Amino acid sequence: MNTPHTAMPPLLQQPLRLLIDGQWVGCASGARMDVINPSTGEVLAQEALGGAADIHQAVQAARRALEAGPWARMRPAERTRLLLKLADALDQHGDELALLETLNTGKPLKVARLFDVGHAAECLRYNAGWATKLNGETRAVSLHGDWHAYTLREPVGVVGLIVPWNVPLAMAVSKIAPALAAGCTVVLKPAELTPLTALRLGELIVAVGFPPGVVNIVTGLGTEAGQALVAHPGVDKVSFTGSTAVGKAILGSAAGNLKRVALELGGKSPVFIFPDADLDRAIDAAARGIFSNTGQVCAAGSRLFVHRSVAERVVEGVARRARQLRVAPGLVADAEIGPVISARQRERVMAYVASGRAEGAEVVAGGEAIDGAGYFIQPTVMVNTAPAMKVVREEIFGPVLCVQQFDDDSLEQLAARGNDTDFGLSSSIWTRDLRTAHQMVRRLKAGNVRVNAAAALDFAMPFGGYKQSGWGRENGREGVEAYTELKSVAIDLN
Ligand code: NAP
Ligand code: MG
Repeated sequence: MNTPHTAMPPLLQQPLRLLIDGQWVGCASGARMDVINPSTGEVLAQEALGGAADIHQAVQAARRALEAGPWARMRPAERTRLLLKLADALDQHGDELALLETLNTGKPLKVARLFDVGHAAECLRYNAGWATKLNGETRAVSLHGDWHAYTLREPVGVVGLIVPWNVPLAMAVSKIAPALAAGCTVVLKPAELTPLTALRLGELIVAVGFPPGVVNIVTGLGTEAGQALVAHPGVDKVSFTGSTAVGKAILGSAAGNLKRVALELGGKSPVFIFPDADLDRAIDAAARGIFSNTGQVCAAGSRLFVHRSVAERVVEGVARRARQLRVAPGLVADAEIGPVISARQRERVMAYVASGRAEGAEVVAGGEAIDGAGYFIQPTVMVNTAPAMKVVREEIFGPVLCVQQFDDDSLEQLAARGNDTDFGLSSSIWTRDLRTAHQMVRRLKAGNVRVNAAAALDFAMPFGGYKQSGWGRENGREGVEAYTELKSVAIDLN
């Protein structure tokens, strides 16, 4: 699979650096790491491996920007305008950002342009509007005498943002946008595998006029830069998206100064297809729900529960999609599914497929890695899976669907089967029956429930997980208020 030749973006023609206090600087240790194109295995660039010393500089810069200087005095409407300018800059440089995202993640270029970059720009616009709408409120207190009592919403302070590699630009922006709308300053630690679009975003942030220190970007390893950021006493809050295991580790590290912690973690989301559903749409959505972004989506519908009477048709339909999808480097014009992010991730996913087979599951589509330089895997459908199997219990984070059937289960039993997981991020229900839909909606323990739809992400809708899928919500009013502290004020007027 050859990648067509494309002119390299300017970012890749220079050494990659860190953004600290408005300056592009090398890391203190001088250590560097290759950034790889997962479609080819080729080295794209070398990133600076920031560590504790760089994180400390970045946190201090963020603190100065928070407490003194233009950002601290900036009116909310000016923050709105800056965020809107940044959104426009993302659109203007959309092709270049999409190319960087495709080179670094392997995802199809048109997906990167429409979804990743488009999503990031819209996220900035949505949150820009909140800067002028974050209000406290007066309270009718019953204290003796005459009082004026109200709440104030203030920025939580310096926020550490840690993001994964599956949707690098959109994830970074989904945290930066509400944090800045709320008046916070930030230190962003991108995933070590995917620093490119975060760094280009940093250049645009500087170019549109955010004051120095408001956004700092320190690339590096999770166990070094990430860990230092989480443990730093000068950080007031950490917002993390990533695996449940690292999320748990972060809680311990954040305990030192009891910083606030928001966690968007993994999932093992169920999809229920009832016999009365519009099966063509359900099949199409079930396939997209697990194969999009090569299954590297926290809310991927990875457990399919299908009624026995329609199971053959549904499984055959999803398996046919799996076989038909064009798996190719993201720069190939008709690519639909790119590689997984790394050789290690490919090994991990293939080990899950092997374990599923060993435990008695049957592979009806895919099931093999694709030979060649890039890290490609066939979209895979496994049937005869059972609740105790590793492939059903653990998040694979790859293009692997596990199918189970249901028969005369009551809705209560069926929901219990769906809820039989440590996770609780998302779920979808396919039926034309209102009663079935509403009964299932109420019973499912998941932060996001979709009826006759797969993903349906919208910035107005809070997104987050029940159980071990996380703490807190992103998006909506809740998402921006998460970057504030609430102060109660009572004034004695007697
Ligand atoms: P990960 O290993 O947990 O890493 C996420 C981020 O945390 C990376 O920037 C990572 O740096 C950093 N990190 C690793 N160890 C750390 C530590 N000890 N202290 C501080 N930071 C640390 O997850 P991933 O493998 O990149 O991403 C896949 C996971 O993300 C999946 O489980 C998926 O479900 C989850 N995810 C959740 C959502 C959601 O919204 N709920 C969205 C997308 C992905 P390195 O890159 O250097 O390891
Ligand atoms: Mg990792």
